[in-house]
Amino acid sequence: MKSYLSTITLLTVCWIILSCGHTQKVKIEAGVSHELAIQRKAILSDIHYILSFDIPTSTKENVTGNEELSFNLKKREDLQIDFQGLIRSNILVNGKEIKTVHQDEHLLIPGEELKEGHNTVSIPFVSLDASLNRNEDYLYTLFVPDHARSVFPCFDQPDLKATYDLTLILPKEWTAISNGTLEKEEELTINSDSTALTHKKMIFRTSDLLPTYLFSFTAGGFKEKTEQKDGRDITILYRETDPDKVAQLPIVFNQIALSLKWLEDYTGIPYPFQKYGCVILPGYQFGGMEHPGCIQFRDATIFLGKNATPDEEFNRLQLIAHETSHMWFGDLVTMKWFDDVWTKEVFANFMADKVAKEQFPHVNYDLNFIKTHYIPALATDRTEGTHPIQQELANLNQAGLLYGNIIYHKAPVMMRKLEEKMGSEYLKEGLRIYLKKYANDNSTWDNLIEILDSVRADADIITFDREWVKGKGVKSIEWSLDDGLPNADGSDYARYLLKDSDEVARYIKLFESQSPDPQKRLAFAMNLYENFLAHRASCEQVYDALWKLKDEKNEQVLSVSSSFLLNVLGYFPEKERIIKEKELLQATHDHPIASYRLALWRWLTTSALSEEVNHKIKEMWAGEQLPFLNERNHMNMAYHLAMSFPEQWEEIINKQRERLTSDDRRKEFDFVSRACNPDQDVQQALFNSLLLAENRTIEPYAAGMLSLLNNYRREPFNNRFIRPGLDILEEVQRTGDIFFPLDWCNALLYGHKSKEAKAEVERFLKENPNYPTSLKNKLLQAAFTLLNRE
Ligand SMILES: [Zn+2]
Repeated sequence: MKSYLSTITLLTVCWIILSCGHTQKVKIEAGVSHELAIQRKAILSDIHYILSFDIPTSTKENVTGNEELSFNLKKREDLQIDFQGLIRSNILVNGKEIKTVHQDEHLLIPGEELKEGHNTVSIPFVSLDASLNRNEDYLYTLFVPDHARSVFPCFDQPDLKATYDLTLILPKEWTAISNGTLEKEEELTINSDSTALTHKKMIFRTSDLLPTYLFSFTAGGFKEKTEQKDGRDITILYRETDPDKVAQLPIVFNQIALSLKWLEDYTGIPYPFQKYGCVILPGYQFGGMEHPGCIQFRDATIFLGKNATPDEEFNRLQLIAHETSHMWFGDLVTMKWFDDVWTKEVFANFMADKVAKEQFPHVNYDLNFIKTHYIPALATDRTEGTHPIQQELANLNQAGLLYGNIIYHKAPVMMRKLEEKMGSEYLKEGLRIYLKKYANDNSTWDNLIEILDSVRADADIITFDREWVKGKGVKSIEWSLDDGLPNADGSDYARYLLKDSDEVARYIKLFESQSPDPQKRLAFAMNLYENFLAHRASCEQVYDALWKLKDEKNEQVLSVSSSFLLNVLGYFPEKERIIKEKELLQATHDHPIASYRLALWRWLTTSALSEEVNHKIKEMWAGEQLPFLNERNHMNMAYHLAMSFPEQWEEIINKQRERLTSDDRRKEFDFVSRACNPDQDVQQALFNSLLLAENRTIEPYAAGMLSLLNNYRREPFNNRFIRPGLDILEEVQRTGDIFFPLDWCNALLYGHKSKEAKAEVERFLKENPNYPTSLKNKLLQAAFTLLNRE
């Protein structure tokens, strides 16, 4: 790595000397810098990509391609085309072969080879694999935020929208989906092509206007189903084989149709793309991704197990509505630069909540909103690792670090407060103006604030924006009970802290004498938990009060209070914890509410320390598969049991493996379950393997294994993993997808509870005082529980 860097530094010097005399002003550096994006936006327009990809049968062979890129140039200047792959031969610029300079992830086209007006560049290339997500019999592209440039040469910035003509040459038995509708499928001509017998050609129509991060295709062994809804064809590709799961597809079609209709009504703009299609992918690294015409969804969120909880049902609709909302918010109107990536997320969530509210009328929406957004937002916003909603971004290769709870959950809270401040009709009016003004174009959050301010000048939106969007953190309010119960209905986004544990005891007593509504009981649980985390209340005190809430009839409140209860239980010394685990086990039999029993079961079957409890779990696991748990729960239970009964680990893993019903899940299980091996040399070797990027390519698997290796039962042995795991965090970010740095930190640190582990993290922070801020924030978020221990 180092020697590579010094070579490119040398090349940079040469390039500057060679290009002396031209107006090459933009620095040539890896990634896509904001400066480069601004230069290109000023001179480029009418961009069109004609792309063909050759997908070999074996994943050992590279995907190759040909591109004809055309664009209009306003001014002759040296031009950088982003590309991380390889070039197969010299490129043609306006029909003339030029010697290709490929440096720092850019193809450099000298200004004198270009002309004002229309230009074409032809490039034969080899793609990198990372963002193609290649499996033996399928692959899918996932380019957000700046990975298109790893697969084909492009202008990889969100404000250079383009159209795409795509041709795929792929194995005959495969199918494919992309942004444009399929135009035709053809046999290959046999003459000189050796792949003609095994491959075919799929040609797609010209896409709508899209930024590179929304261009996508998925190809492979998929089943396909198309249904017509409201006169529109909706296509779903999937790999699931379980008939109970496939039987859920009509629900998915209906929820897509409902979301589309809802969005059309709200925005006043008909669905803006040529078709609606989606793919449901196993082991998908996000919940979903909004490529127009070929949205990707994570299978576990769409296909629910038997006995799905109301939360899971609700989450599925929210995910579908979220990705559908993006068709307007993000895809039709796109952020100018990725620093505003949260704007598309906040709108998608805001709209998804509105859609879900109509579809689940029995759900207490306000209560659910607090549960869905306040709680995860606070989980990050109360840590040292928090940041403002609006963040700066100098280079797209850092964009991944912008994502997280602040964007996904605090921003919706802000949005709700904004709607309260504006009035919902005024806000809708402002959003319609905004969508119309910037359709098929780009805009910034500040552009929207300007519009909202003009729609409702008296609402002082500018001050609101400064506090909520440009400021960070959650305010802590020192509260005295003499002034009433703190944040009584939970609607204030703030931490209300009482003086000490005596005051907390008084609060618990006062609260019990009231007969409040469910939202107030939710607020009570949240206040207790905040006071516990702020060391104003003891774990016994808070645990007992939350345990009393088990008679709660409202499932939302119960679900929150039980998650706090189980978090607090993690702080107890082992001896006391074991006693409480037995009570919990009893409640899994006695409790009248199924979702509560299930929450306790899921926790116990992945976390119990009590031998007695684990024996009971093992007995139940050894019989028939438990009808109230799904296959993933059983997989997790097997990992837990294998680690709790190390002498029987192989037997347990083998038995669970035989029960698995799909090859994809078996593949995951085979990867992750190796971590259950009690042999510490094996554990060390597995951990070492995760330090190599090639063993982290399927990130949920890698995170699954890492979290088992760092399970609390293996302290103090596994404390030795913390430092090397943190040392490669920057590399994990460079080589991985956008959510992975935080997932990695969570998997590495969540299981640790010891003082030694805490000291290890503190030492790392101390020894790296200049660590990149956004990455350090992820670490501080994940380490909150560990660092907060006294
Ligand atoms: Zn989204």
